Amino acid sequence: MPLSEFEIIARCFAPIAAPGAFGLLDDAASLSPPPGRDLVLTKDMLVAGMHFFPGDPPAAIARKALRVNLSDLAAKGAEPIGFMLGIALARETDQGWIDAFAAGLAADAASYGLALFGGDTVSTSGPVTVSITAFGSVPAGGMVRRLGASAGDRLFVTGRIGDAALGLRLRLEPEGELARLLAPEHREALLEAYLLPQPRTALAAAVQRHASAAMDVSDGFVGDLTKMLSGAGLGARVRLDRVPHSPAAQAAMAIDRDLESVALCGGDDYELLVATPPGRANDFVAACDAAGVPASPIGDAAEDVAVRFVDAEGRTRDFTRGSFSHF
Ligand code: ADP
Ligand code: MG
Repeated sequence: MPLSEFEIIARCFAPIAAPGAFGLLDDAASLSPPPGRDLVLTKDMLVAGMHFFPGDPPAAIARKALRVNLSDLAAKGAEPIGFMLGIALARETDQGWIDAFAAGLAADAASYGLALFGGDTVSTSGPVTVSITAFGSVPAGGMVRRLGASAGDRLFVTGRIGDAALGLRLRLEPEGELARLLAPEHREALLEAYLLPQPRTALAAAVQRHASAAMDVSDGFVGDLTKMLSGAGLGARVRLDRVPHSPAAQAAMAIDRDLESVALCGGDDYELLVATPPGRANDFVAACDAAGVPASPIGDAAEDVAVRFVDAEGRTRDFTRGSFSHF
């Protein structure tokens, strides 16, 4: 059995509370936005059995819940400020689980520079659910929009695509062909990518300065890029041979060619899709390089064309389902 609700808050969450959260002893927190800047707000919910496995380490669940929100902030060009945590736990959850969850949360909150402003703690007869609302800031009027691209803009994807979706495949089919044939270090790399995303916080400033549009890849590269472009009335000839994959993902796709569509459509990458005006492209790439994350050019946005994905031979690839949808 866990401690009481108030003891949980005092013991687990108050130590990482922001000064404006009054030790989590008040009904609400207060926050003065930095002068001349806008707040950027985002929320992501994680449900056991849907976004993570109930048996995952509690510290990893907490860190993933925070990191998926950090990924949204980075995509909007926002510098992190803080977050709020809603958590629904089974009555019989053991206190050790909650302590480990809080420790993971505290570690990431410290390393990414976010403070906890409050939340809610409830019991549930359903699956563990973690809901984080994060906020950051950008120069006034400067949030980078998802649908801000124009015809002629250059399109980039950061980092590498596919590891997390392939890691999920390994979790779902632990005795499958992929799990059996993949080298242990590649298996570990893919499993780790699924368990613990690496949000591109280091690129937020580059996105804010140079991007005309951006979003993070949470539901799948193909579907998310299609959303970003078609929502703006644009299309593109997207070069799949320019989409970077890690050595582990390449090894997986060499075992089974069909895994390419898992990598491209699977999601949970938390990389950034970025459009820049042509004149900003070099500066954007240089800023990403300086931050230690590659930005790969994958095509140009265009008017009056569909979003098409073409392989190295120029053949169009059709993906029946470009991204994950809950419904
Ligand atoms: P209420 O009575 O309005 O439901 P609570 O007693 O639940 O408020 O919460 C008291 C304080 O503890 C509030 O400041 C709230 O933001 C904070 N709090 C509750 N749960 C959490 C949580 N999971 N993480 C962070 N802060 C929390
Ligand atoms: Mg209250």
